[in-house]
Amino acid sequence: MEELLRRSEKLTTVGQLAAGVAHEIRNPLTTLRGFLQLQQHTGKMNPEHTELMLSELDRINLIVGEFLILAKPQATRFATKDVRDVFRSVLSLIDSEGHLHNVTFKTSFTEAACLVSCEENQLKQVFINLLKNGIEAMPSGGRIHTHIASKNDQITISITDEGIGIPEDMIPKIGNPFFTGKESGTGLGMMISQRIIHSHHGLMEIKSQVNVGTTITITLPSLKEGNTNGILDGGLGEKNAN
Ligand code: ADP
Ligand code: MG
Repeated sequence: MEELLRRSEKLTTVGQLAAGVAHEIRNPLTTLRGFLQLQQHTGKMNPEHTELMLSELDRINLIVGEFLILAKPQATRFATKDVRDVFRSVLSLIDSEGHLHNVTFKTSFTEAACLVSCEENQLKQVFINLLKNGIEAMPSGGRIHTHIASKNDQITISITDEGIGIPEDMIPKIGNPFFTGKESGTGLGMMISQRIIHSHHGLMEIKSQVNVGTTITITLPSLKEGNTNGILDGGLGEKNAN
């Protein structure tokens, strides 16, 4: 039942987004069609146009890729994970991307276990989105510091970059579908991340200062070690049905 509710909530999100996605994809498609028509008329392929067509195709691919994360009818399988481990595995994925952009990653994690009930791939997606934004906010490189702590019944993950920052009036708009401050951004990363964190009963907060940097803080309800009650919602139901 809960699973069904979760799915129907997702469907609404997807429904709301579909119009926006269609619009975002139609623009590059129009460009592609134009160039192909031109080529049909002239019988020649202009390498500059080919380049543009490829980048438009990449853009479509990017938008569809991000959209699929939401639209994929995959069952959400919640399991107990240590956030520190989830984060470490993301760092190993994104490390080379960091190198490429002169960005180094620093971490300070609590010694204590940081157990949460989560859909691991979704949580990874959130960390990737936030780290990517951090990298993109520092065009000439810098540091991204991630702090993970466990306090009361909460796990706190804060990711701080030394990037361009976000003007105050822009902060409320972040997370709106397709809101981007970048020339080639999709404006989907923060929306997807917020959705995922909310579906994990968590919160996401943005603090930023222009030309100083940005801190994104995520809080998730923590699970006590040994207490695994209710952590398999979704997953357990399916297993029992077999
Ligand atoms: P995209 O990265 O594709 O633009 P996002 O949803 O990930 O879309 O981010 C939306 C916008 O929020 C970005 O374009 C950027 O303007 C702003 N933003 C998000 N994270 C940061 C950050 N760490 N530093 C500066 N700006 C940020
Ligand atoms: Mg982004």
